[in-house]
Amino acid sequence: MTERAKNCTSSGKPLTEVGSTAFPCPNCGNPIGRSPRCRDQGVSYTCSECGFVGP
Ligand SMILES: [Zn+2]
Repeated sequence: MTERAKNCTSSGKPLTEVGSTAFPCPNCGNPIGRSPRCRDQGVSYTCSECGFVGP
């Protein structure tokens, strides 16, 4: 698993801001991206591959 998400899964914004993060989906390993804003607001993410929803 070397691939990293390039955009926030929730907002679609590029993960260029400080504090952005990327991690594999706990269910299927698909790259998930989160912007700092979505993290701060606790926006749920939805995996585009398997539909997994997480905090
Ligand atoms: Zn998934």
